[in-house]
Amino acid sequence: MLPGVVRRLPRAMPPHLGVFEVRLASGEVPRFQAGQYLTLGLDTPRGFTLRPYSIASCPLDRASYELYIVRIDGGTLTPQLFAADEQPCWILPPRGRFTLAQARTRTVVMVATGTGLAPFVSQVRTLHRLHEVGIPAGFRVILMHGCAYADEFGYRDELLAYAAARSQDFDFTYVTTASRPDPAHGWTQAHGVGRVNELFRSLFDLPTDARQPVALPHGVDKVKLRELIRAEPATLMVCGNPGMIDDLREPARQLGMVGFLVEEYWKAPTRS
Ligand SMILES: Cc1cc2nc3c(=O)[nH]c(=O)nc-3n(C[C@H](O)[C@H](O)[C@H](O)COP(=O)(O)OP(=O)(O)OC[C@H]3O[C@@H](n4cnc5c(N)ncnc54)[C@H](O)[C@@H]3O)c2cc1C
Repeated sequence: MLPGVVRRLPRAMPPHLGVFEVRLASGEVPRFQAGQYLTLGLDTPRGFTLRPYSIASCPLDRASYELYIVRIDGGTLTPQLFAADEQPCWILPPRGRFTLAQARTRTVVMVATGTGLAPFVSQVRTLHRLHEVGIPAGFRVILMHGCAYADEFGYRDELLAYAAARSQDFDFTYVTTASRPDPAHGWTQAHGVGRVNELFRSLFDLPTDARQPVALPHGVDKVKLRELIRAEPATLMVCGNPGMIDDLREPARQLGMVGFLVEEYWKAPTRS
């Protein structure tokens, strides 16, 4: 286990969300692939606790790891993490197979809920960094991010900037959707409406929950987005809420997606 310090970075976001930096006492952080997770250990009031976290930073940045974390009320590690601006920590080195190396197609559709965005931030950052030095991305990426409220779209400005820089060699599309489209939380028509799995289903006219309204962000054309996803064989990468993940299994099969790669942040309670 490697000792270090975890520090909250100043970011404009609701208090239950945080971007954290982990620096190690030994200096450079161990190598990793974009999409992998590390295991973070903290001393908490309930004892020493370890939890896995996807790494949001680019693997080319070896000074620290960046993490994007939501505080879980009643949880063990996250209330302790959010209680201090900086504290000692321990990590187990990165691991995991939720990487673009596992995608066997050029088109990759990334679907995230909440902080499930983290591995995709790492991957898109990496593709962009390589593109900047003249290495073509080699992937067409469509990133769909769902949150409850519009002020929870962490990394939005950065991702919008990447999407605005879209080119033949950096083919990146970014779509957000809020299940609670409340203007008091910053929602505008630029954000989209509905759960991200429902929005994905609606793109292909697959059955949706009629009680849940869905709408694409203003300016995103349904037919063009659908064609972008369907133009060639595609892989679906899904991360975050187990309900969202489960709901997209059947659409992935029906649409003939070549791969369905999953990073599940917690287990859905088993129904009795
Ligand atoms: C591979 C992997 C990568 C992960 N990466 C991230 C990440 O980048 N960012 C992040 O915020 N979390 C991530 N998680 C979840 C994280 O490991 C912890 O489960 C979470 O931070 C809660 O820890 P806790 O000790 O505070 O709560 P606990 O005491 O462990 O549990 C509280 C309850 O909250 C549930 N829970 C866990 N995560 C969430 C969530 N996001 N929303 C709602 N309920 C939840 C658990 O099922 C549990 O019932 C990841 C999980 C896995 C398996």
